[in-house]
Amino acid sequence: MADVSLRGVKKQFGALSVIKGVDLDVKDGEFCVFVGPSGCGKSTLLRMIAGLEDITAGSLAIGGQDMTSIGPSERGVAMVFQSYALYPHMTVEENIGFGLKMTGQPKALIAERTAVAAKMLQLEPLLQRKPGQLSGGQRQRVAIGRAIVRNPEVFLFDEPLSNLDAALRVQMRTELSKLHQDLKATMIYVTHDQVEAMTMADKIVVLSAGKIEQVGSPLELYHRPNNLFVAGFIGSPK
Ligand code: ADP
Ligand code: MG
Repeated sequence: MADVSLRGVKKQFGALSVIKGVDLDVKDGEFCVFVGPSGCGKSTLLRMIAGLEDITAGSLAIGGQDMTSIGPSERGVAMVFQSYALYPHMTVEENIGFGLKMTGQPKALIAERTAVAAKMLQLEPLLQRKPGQLSGGQRQRVAIGRAIVRNPEVFLFDEPLSNLDAALRVQMRTELSKLHQDLKATMIYVTHDQVEAMTMADKIVVLSAGKIEQVGSPLELYHRPNNLFVAGFIGSPK
């Protein structure tokens, strides 16, 4: 079970209070979307779940286990970033398997997991190409492949589609939803795009200035927003 649970989570950068007490339960297998304006703390929250930032106060548990002394690589989470820094000199196949190679996994296992991920992401014909010979969407798929081969229980996506053009974003949305169905993993997905949130989420978390304004299904937020901020955010796609 890979439910993610935050209790009274705060983050302070020096004197700057960025996350101001967040309580949240993301259920096992749920597709949870964090939305909110730029600078409200979405990435910081995700990085704390990934273990890339310490929590100033409060607690975080994944699968019922407290994460205080668990490092990023032991959490069963994999993060996909907006800027998918692929290794330019390596092939697609090598890029996908690189993380596993670094942790000393056997070659056969790397090959098997890479093949599964490539099939899932329709990258099979591209495995011997270099990143420079790929489109933006194909590169983003390679970045997602790198996460899949680690077999995480929780995927963390930080605005993974924001560098893609509109048509490709629509296509990738569908592909990510399909991936979620296939893998049945818990996914936490950050975006500032209301349409992405409304179409992909089981649960939407609306954030503003380091606090949760509302949590609910897309329909709940649309029909029963708690306040004008949520109504404005969900009701007026940019
Ligand atoms: P979002 O992803 O919602 O745009 P972030 O989580 O990136 O927001 O940032 C939230 C706030 O925290 C911003 O004011 C940002 O400048 C600040 N911040 C983020 N990381 C750091 C850091 N390492 N040091 C200081 N301030 C930071
Ligand atoms: Mg961000």
